[in-house]
Amino acid sequence: MNSIKNNLESIIASLPANHTVTLVAVSKFQAPELIKEAYNAGQRIFGESRVHELSDKVKILPADIKWHFIGHLQTNKISNLLRIPGLAMIESIDSFRLLELVDKEATKLNVLAHVLLEVHVAQETTKFGFETDELIEWFQNKGYCNLTSVHIHGLMGMASNTDDENRIQADFRKITECYNKIKRISTDLLGFDMLSMGMSGDYLIAIKEGANMIRIGSSIFGERGY
Ligand SMILES: *Cc1c(COP(=O)(O)O)cnc(C)c1O
Repeated sequence: MNSIKNNLESIIASLPANHTVTLVAVSKFQAPELIKEAYNAGQRIFGESRVHELSDKVKILPADIKWHFIGHLQTNKISNLLRIPGLAMIESIDSFRLLELVDKEATKLNVLAHVLLEVHVAQETTKFGFETDELIEWFQNKGYCNLTSVHIHGLMGMASNTDDENRIQADFRKITECYNKIKRISTDLLGFDMLSMGMSGDYLIAIKEGANMIRIGSSIFGERGY
């Protein structure tokens, strides 16, 4: 069986040498000992999808880990999430209501929330996220000017859950187009430069389509213990 260290090394070796891609190791449902193994192999950024699980893990794992929240965030958990030391990024802001509530709560706590906006392009209807059109319109109207305690760093997205590589590529391309459009129309928006897309099965396609952040779980840790 491959070790976590070997898995990490082969993923890193598979990344193109000509541009920088940040690897988020998705450790949701994985035991802390396995996360420690990845940490000992040099990995410092981890992704979790549940606030309670994240807050338990933070207590027992090294303090220099940067945690990314990647799951659907329930509004009653916002405050708890923002209080977690080591929280570096909320990648899954999936509605304007959630964005506003995170801003409000961050203001109350006197912290700056670093976030990505989650775009929905996949064919599955159950996933959360913004439609590309509504997001572009919001940026055109400078909706972000009303935010005081949130820094929007970029976009996060997922491709359809399919074996059809053309469909996956088209999905990623749509997210990248949206990202580039926002950059073009929002010239006053500083530090909007992260495009998080690509998971174990499709990260190479995502990078080809412009991703500079990938979120990989099962290819590092093996199947999750759901
Ligand atoms: C679980 C998850 C991943 C990782 O998926 P793998 O297929 O295990 O690499 C990436 N992104 C999000 C949002 C996830 O929920």
